[in-house]
Amino acid sequence: LSPVPADIDIANSVEPYPIGVIASELGLDASQYEVYGKSKAKVLLSVYDGLKDSPNGYYVVVGGISPTPLGEGKSTTTVGLCQALGAHLGKKVVTCVRQPSQGPTFGIKGGAAGGGYSQVIPMDEFNLHMTGDIHAITAANNLLAAAIDTRIFHESTQSDKALFNRLCPADKEGKRVFAPVMIKRLKKLGIEKTNPGDLTPDEIKAFARLDIDPAQITWKRVMDINDRFLRKITVGQGPEEKGMVRETGFDISVASEIMAVLALTTSLADMRERLGKMVIGTSRGGEPVSADDLGVGGALTVLMKDGINPTLMQTLEGTPVLVHAGPFANIAHGNSSIVADQIALKLVGENGFVVTEAGFGADIGTEKFMNIKCRYSGLTPQCAVIVATVRALKMHGGGPEVVAGRPLDHAYKTEQVDLVKAGCCNLVRHIQNTKSYGVNVVVAINAFSTDTEAEFNVIKEAAFAAGAFDAVVCTHHAHGGAGAVDLGLAVQKACEQHQSSLKFLYPLDISIKEKIEMIVKSYGADGVEFSEEAEKQIETYTRQGFSGLPICMAKTQYSFSHNASLKGAPTGFIIPIRAVRASIGAGFIYPLVGTMSTMPGLPTRPCFYDIDLDLETGRVLGLS
Ligand code: ADP
Repeated sequence: LSPVPADIDIANSVEPYPIGVIASELGLDASQYEVYGKSKAKVLLSVYDGLKDSPNGYYVVVGGISPTPLGEGKSTTTVGLCQALGAHLGKKVVTCVRQPSQGPTFGIKGGAAGGGYSQVIPMDEFNLHMTGDIHAITAANNLLAAAIDTRIFHESTQSDKALFNRLCPADKEGKRVFAPVMIKRLKKLGIEKTNPGDLTPDEIKAFARLDIDPAQITWKRVMDINDRFLRKITVGQGPEEKGMVRETGFDISVASEIMAVLALTTSLADMRERLGKMVIGTSRGGEPVSADDLGVGGALTVLMKDGINPTLMQTLEGTPVLVHAGPFANIAHGNSSIVADQIALKLVGENGFVVTEAGFGADIGTEKFMNIKCRYSGLTPQCAVIVATVRALKMHGGGPEVVAGRPLDHAYKTEQVDLVKAGCCNLVRHIQNTKSYGVNVVVAINAFSTDTEAEFNVIKEAAFAAGAFDAVVCTHHAHGGAGAVDLGLAVQKACEQHQSSLKFLYPLDISIKEKIEMIVKSYGADGVEFSEEAEKQIETYTRQGFSGLPICMAKTQYSFSHNASLKGAPTGFIIPIRAVRASIGAGFIYPLVGTMSTMPGLPTRPCFYDIDLDLETGRVLGLS
């Protein structure tokens, strides 16, 4: 249809297959998944164990050029490519994408199910609660937050002995026992006693007092809403808290370390380990304090036990999709889960395809995909797709700014070969960076109806000159999978002809600062400037033994630099590191570049104005 109808209207016009049909086409029997409603099922992790020794399919990651407000259609292209491979080229394929956060869905960006005739359906279920994983993360995160403040409160009001006796209460026979989770703390302290009655007063003190320094707590509360007024709050103002007020704040749930743990874990046992290891701050004595020190690692695992299973959904053309985890790419590591990719690679088998999306530009999502996700999973991609659009490259080439509420400038709707040519420097740097990981790079030119052949040719020329394996124009937004068949064939060829091994951007055994310096070089920066706070934090994490972790930069997605308005391929800038956090359970060090906020706000005219329920049909209206 021309023009292409609204995303939600297309999504609502297709009746999804019952999810059991999609599952059985993937080779799953009913004992291997749990159905949620009609169109969603959670695939059990045991599926992977059963297929451990069978071959993996090809592994394809989709990244993009630096995003602009004009949208590049990365999710749309990921889905369109899979529809082409699965529904038109006869390949076994699974799309692996993140679960969207409610922040952008109700805020500025809208949903993330793709668009036009390339979408995940039912798109309202995909964009909203889905199977509740983000709610589970929010609950777990906030249980830990509650445990921290309450523990400080109890420690401040009780003697060592009273605290210890309450932590290890007597059973019916009058015998005190350690809860199983306490064994980890005893081990950490080097106390080899199993009977609480045998501890010396010094050991009782060391065991019972975490002595958390309130000024060094890094754990925040979270909520999956863009609520900027929660960025900074004061807790403990009730009279019962006896004046123990403390400044803290909320992050958005998808920035929670628990979200990153879910995305990077490889099994239930590994998730238990990571949740327990999460560091919430430092004791007054300078020691890291973990969730297991607070006794809450087991309870967090219970809250997350269903969340660890990826959710099976489908595209508009009935190909399978695994939706799992949803860390933002700018303030977190921006990739869907390792377990979903692992299961999918086994399910598609040899010669099948798993297409996984890495959020935002390749400097953000793909860099973290390679250096964090692949490092932990041990999986090797053969092909990276970089999505580009004519209009976004025009903006990188100096095209006019897009102002919300004003009509799009004519430059974006008419042929402007020179602007496109000037903007290709952004694509070129992303191709060069991505190629350096040892994958074949295919550029997907996501066509809009106003683009011209001459503009496409300029992009193709630049892509080939930069060493791309192929560059293909695709029309999957307007034509579904049929519009991405050439892209599918190019990706197939890129995978079949791939030979190189995966090369990381930096080794792990150098200092935190050296790793950050190597990453910012790939942005085109001259160097890094660390704030006093960042210097101190790096020193602390290094002393605490965490310097061997990979780095997860929290940086604006709109530019290679820290300055969102520097389009194209800027050079000659210095990246400022304001603060450095550590996600020990997830397994990365997390530098905050410039003014990155971990709790977004709402614009004057948020997407929620368009969203309502059709009271007659029960359908959701206005989601995009
Ligand atoms: P990204 O993943 O890069 O953020 P999406 O795939 O979510 O982008 O697409 C953003 C929006 O742009 C969606 O509403 C989608 O329908 C629209 N869109 C994507 N590609 C096209 C296209 N070729 N023509 C018109 N609209 C498009």
